[in-house]
Amino acid sequence: MVKGTITIDQDRCKGCELCTGVCPKDVLVMDNDTLNAKGYHPALLQDPDELCTGCAQCAVICPDVCITVYRDPIPAR
Ligand code: SF4
Ligand code: SF4
Repeated sequence: MVKGTITIDQDRCKGCELCTGVCPKDVLVMDNDTLNAKGYHPALLQDPDELCTGCAQCAVICPDVCITVYRDPIPAR
């Protein structure tokens, strides 16, 4: 099992929602309470249960390269 997380450069985000559609863990949402510098609602990681695996599907699909993925292998017991 690999644990991961991401950061989103929200000011680069154009609110296209592509990342929210591909995340297999459903931990990406659009932040409808925020407007970024471009005037869009940016994507937001909402992952209180730390479900993100670092699979990078969100980063690959993002047309504006807003997402950076971090991944750590969890040592086997
Ligand atoms: S790295 Fe994978 S699991 Fe994590 S937010 Fe992106 S698509 Fe979802
Ligand atoms: S795919 Fe990229 S530009 Fe589109 S909503 Fe997600 S972070 Fe924003």
